[in-house]
Amino acid sequence: MAGCRRLSGSSLREVLGEAQGVLFDCDGVLWTGERAVPGAAELLERLSRHGKAALFVSNNSRRSVTELERRFSRLGFRGVRGEQVFSSALCSALFLRQRLLGDAAGDSPAAGPVFVLGGEGLRGELRDAGLRLVGDPEEERGPVRAVLVGYDDQFTFAKLSEACAYLRDPQCLLVATDPDPWHPLSDGQCTPGTGSLTAAVETASGRKAMVVGKPNTYMFECIVERFGVDPSRMLMVGDRLETDILFGKNCGLDTVLTLTGVSRLEEAQAYMASDSPAAKDLVPHYYVDSIADLIPGLDE
Ligand SMILES: [Mg+2]
Repeated sequence: MAGCRRLSGSSLREVLGEAQGVLFDCDGVLWTGERAVPGAAELLERLSRHGKAALFVSNNSRRSVTELERRFSRLGFRGVRGEQVFSSALCSALFLRQRLLGDAAGDSPAAGPVFVLGGEGLRGELRDAGLRLVGDPEEERGPVRAVLVGYDDQFTFAKLSEACAYLRDPQCLLVATDPDPWHPLSDGQCTPGTGSLTAAVETASGRKAMVVGKPNTYMFECIVERFGVDPSRMLMVGDRLETDILFGKNCGLDTVLTLTGVSRLEEAQAYMASDSPAAKDLVPHYYVDSIADLIPGLDE
């Protein structure tokens, strides 16, 4: 059972030594805002030199993979390739392509458009996956096949009404990129996340959304499909117990909480002390103050 132990010394060398690779959440783990976590880039370089995979799993649906790739490079992370990055925007596009276009990915003219609550990063991923979007110029338009709720800082009552009108058709899917209720800002304030907008759409439409992002396992299924990783030899490192650590648990991965982001050690300990089985799923196997603490596990 996960015991929320500090990961250091011989147990650190053992855990990293046996690992085939590491999945990292991004915000609050590799960087906070525009600042890279000190030591994070060195850790990624060492993993690479030791032949271990580093993959990135982010619930952030604002940026396309191409934009995320640029962000890695701007913040000093060298050599990260787009194929290592699994964002909820990319995985939502893959999910909708599977559901709406089936095997005829990219060339099925039959699929009606998707109504998107979200920005250009998300919309770009959907177009790249061969999906048509409400609002894009086109000659003819079939019924709207899905409403996708992502991070939308231009969310309005009118958009909510439009989404609900499409969702009156029971064939129209309701999908959310991620469940995050809010995100921390650098000044200590919070900003609403996709989960808040999804709750509004669910309440107004009486429908329940299928959520693509963590803690659900779909993003890991995308990773397994692309890289064929062995869950028993992968570590999941994240800063949020309710998404990252639960995701690791749901996918059968060992989990590491890093304390540079949202969740505090006291919260993990409170979950561990709780009698509720659901709370136990939020307890990480290990914790570190920062992912820089993982560097000594990979000798030079
Ligand atoms: Mg995070």
